[in-house]
Amino acid sequence: MLQPDRATRAEWTKTVTAFVDEFIEGLEGAPASASGTALLPPPPAETPGELADLLAQFADAASQGVETAGPRYLAYFPAGGLYSSVLAEFLAQATNRYTGVAATAPALVAMEHSVIRWLCDEFGLPQGSGGIFTTGASLATLSAVHTARQDRLHTHDPNGTIYVTPHTHHCVAKAAHITGFAPERIRVVPTDAHLRMDVDAARALIDQDRAAGLRPFLIIGTAGATSTGIVDPLAEIGMLAHEESLWFHVDGAYGGAFQLTERGRAILHGIDRADSIAWDPHKSLFLPYGTGVLLVRDEAKLRAAHVADGDYLQDLDHGTGVPDYSDLGPELTREFRGLRIWLPLHLHGAKAFRDALDEKHDLADHLRAELAKIENIELLPSDLTVVVFRSADSEQLFKSINDSGRFFLSSTRLGGRFTLRICVLSHRTRREHVDEVIELIRRLSAAPAK
Ligand SMILES: *Cc1c(COP(=O)(O)O)cnc(C)c1O
Repeated sequence: MLQPDRATRAEWTKTVTAFVDEFIEGLEGAPASASGTALLPPPPAETPGELADLLAQFADAASQGVETAGPRYLAYFPAGGLYSSVLAEFLAQATNRYTGVAATAPALVAMEHSVIRWLCDEFGLPQGSGGIFTTGASLATLSAVHTARQDRLHTHDPNGTIYVTPHTHHCVAKAAHITGFAPERIRVVPTDAHLRMDVDAARALIDQDRAAGLRPFLIIGTAGATSTGIVDPLAEIGMLAHEESLWFHVDGAYGGAFQLTERGRAILHGIDRADSIAWDPHKSLFLPYGTGVLLVRDEAKLRAAHVADGDYLQDLDHGTGVPDYSDLGPELTREFRGLRIWLPLHLHGAKAFRDALDEKHDLADHLRAELAKIENIELLPSDLTVVVFRSADSEQLFKSINDSGRFFLSSTRLGGRFTLRICVLSHRTRREHVDEVIELIRRLSAAPAK
């Protein structure tokens, strides 16, 4: 019963792909958001169900909430989800090979590792660098904080201190909490007028902490802050980290991928000084959720911080020449995550990704330029493909845009004040969508406040 025959497989696959085709074709016209419920469906029956019924139930559930795959989703970090990656996932899960250690699938692990190597080159990391695909930047950051602690403090020391800014993502605080650092060991460095880390202030804080008997060991630079897309002065932070013997981690969850473009490389200048870089192909490489990556300057340090062994693994050859990924992260068994990035890169070609990122960058610049022309709209500092702004009544404008069902935006707070935020990042978002949201903002911000 658990092994469907060929005819049944063909029938099921046909039913599911027909749904997927219709779903993708329908994205252009689908509402940006819809109301939804979280009612629990009944538990499984003892007897078999009908795929068509179950698919209908899934389709109904998927139609509720926010249309994150659609072209008019401009909130948080839209990625869309490449179809080529979906196919890779189908292949990876159908073959279900074990890539936690290399010996059980050496050539597949080599495919995954080839992407890691290519990324290390793109980021200008030296020989000996490496990394691992994770479920997202939060898990990559957890491994980075743990590795920094092992490498710089050697053992757990509650006096270790970590340097961030008010715009650092909360995944750093979470990682610090899990690795055993109290909230007061996270030191918040002030930012300059453009919301970038004030490196002189960081230096002063580090001096002050050392004098007080604390042990500074980790500094975080953000390449593309979540609220604004702003990039910290990475080269200067890297220099400071070097002088002070701190581990330099770059959180490029959103902005990291812009290293693939010429314009982006100039903005991310200095990222090659990082000891570790976390970023999210499920954001800016348009892949489905669940794909992050951690790159490290010295793979041996990542391994030293994570390696473990058990008698039951004694048959495995550890000399394949490619990493045993279970030595580089907290997981033993893992999905074959590499294929969902390897296949799209090879199928579309790397240039298609560079061009798409450049196109989104152009669209965000166009959006900034057009919003600046609208009376009552105040633009705030932003970078890459995030645009932040206020109006005479920002909360009302935000609500009206999302209530329109045409677009879905998110908001943030800057300087304690409510701020609207647009991120152009989905591979499905094109010029016509951006022009439409500009028109909508023009119209709604001109309406008298109620
Ligand atoms: C999204 C984001 C994260 C968290 O990444 P997940 O993949 O959601 O775990 C971390 N840092 C920044 C800057 C982000 O934008």
